Amino acid sequence: MRLKFNKLITICIFMIIFFLNSETLAENVQYIDVKIGNNVSMSSKIGISSTSGFIIRNTINDYSTNETAIYISLSSPEFYTILDENGNKIAEINYADNYEIVPMFENNDYVNLNGKYYRGSIKLIKNNNNCYIINHVSLEEYLYGVVPKEIPSSAPLEALKAQAIVSRSYSLSNLNKHIKDGYNLCDSTHCQVYGGYSAEKDSTNTAVDETKGMILEYNDRAVDAVFHSSSGGHTESSENVWGTKIPYLVAVKDPFSLNAPNSNWNITFTNSVIVNNLRNNNIEIQDLIDIEVLDRTESGRAKTIKVVASDKTVLLSGDKFRSIMGNSNFKSTLFSIEKNYDTDRVVKSTLSKNGIEEIDFTSNTIMIMTNNGIKNLDKSSIDVLNSLGQTNIKIDTHVSSFSFVGKGYGHGVGMSQYGAIEMAKEGYNYEQILQYYYKNIKITQ
Ligand SMILES: [Zn+2]
Repeated sequence: MRLKFNKLITICIFMIIFFLNSETLAENVQYIDVKIGNNVSMSSKIGISSTSGFIIRNTINDYSTNETAIYISLSSPEFYTILDENGNKIAEINYADNYEIVPMFENNDYVNLNGKYYRGSIKLIKNNNNCYIINHVSLEEYLYGVVPKEIPSSAPLEALKAQAIVSRSYSLSNLNKHIKDGYNLCDSTHCQVYGGYSAEKDSTNTAVDETKGMILEYNDRAVDAVFHSSSGGHTESSENVWGTKIPYLVAVKDPFSLNAPNSNWNITFTNSVIVNNLRNNNIEIQDLIDIEVLDRTESGRAKTIKVVASDKTVLLSGDKFRSIMGNSNFKSTLFSIEKNYDTDRVVKSTLSKNGIEEIDFTSNTIMIMTNNGIKNLDKSSIDVLNSLGQTNIKIDTHVSSFSFVGKGYGHGVGMSQYGAIEMAKEGYNYEQILQYYYKNIKITQ
């Protein structure tokens, strides 16, 4: 009896391992649930339309209607009420009953929601005082609506195919990202941007079709194929951004990204904007005095930032600093800092008779003009040695703003999309592109 029980446990463990290993493989995931748009409040009404009418179904019941525009009222505490255009009730369905709303000609029609068309069906999930609108769609059809939102559809086909495989792998390895809320992925940059049927383009649909079911694998599991817009010349290793070393997300030199759009950027913030941004992130400082890059990763990205204020010094990771300053304007952590000084502060030295003519604060460095020529210094305290001895001059250098001069756009980990486009233009195929940006991986179907 004992032996049989052990055997059963062994079989169970085996099955669980088998299930865990296989669930991320493409052939086992045919449909996914994607949350579309914002959460809907329970006091509102959702309008959807199709050209063929609708079937509202679960495994037990079907309601069908020829109405091409229907409304779902969320005002009842127990039911979704399905109404026709004139407000007449078509059906009442319990919140818990897991219904799908499918166009009548489901393989040949689309659901229109807020002016956007979607393949597949719509499901609703009630969550406290909100309702999530879910698009239940096949993985391949989901990718039709993702690839053109994530990479320009005019890119060469091999780059589009690389993106299709990357997006498929990323989707499969992130299927549980929102599972606690009852769905797989959202339609924003948090997961991948998804625009439904309305976003589809012929070129990107071709790329999805020509790579059907193909994913990147590491140790027989779908790869978390993160990607970014442009690396600026060198990609980054995962541990430098997220703290975890991942064997396939390794920094590589990336000359293909050097001339990408947004590859060179420059943004200036005044001291007060920087102080406010820090305060909004619960970093309370008084007057900002200096910002320095303390150390860099092997790709050249800022690893630690030192913020010197009148009351304290704060150390931040480069990534944290970037997110505080705003990820879309502050495009990467591959940057250097230029200090801008107050411009109208030329101070005449009182030591002119000892050889100093003038201290000029108008440039980023301090120029000391002596009768022996010009010396450039970048210090707040200068020891001047002349025939009368040594004099220390304290200089109140005041930085009024900081300019950040950077390269690349995004976290820099995994595939650079503009690098992939450049590689494709130079004749590399999707396999070569993927093997370049992801290490130790297999491309499988
Ligand atoms: Zn998400």
